[in-house]
Amino acid sequence: MNWLKRLVCKHDHQPHKKLSMFQNLSGDSIYYVCTKCDHIRDSLFIKH
Ligand SMILES: [Zn+2]
Repeated sequence: MNWLKRLVCKHDHQPHKKLSMFQNLSGDSIYYVCTKCDHIRDSLFIKH
């Protein structure tokens, strides 16, 4: 029951690079994902 987990989860967000089949030459998409319940808090784009 993932939704219940998220309700009580004290999120521990860690940055994850988005996995892509295609290499992005202009930058990386970074997602902050909770390691406990996979909740995504934020995403940002970092240019090289
Ligand atoms: Zn969480």
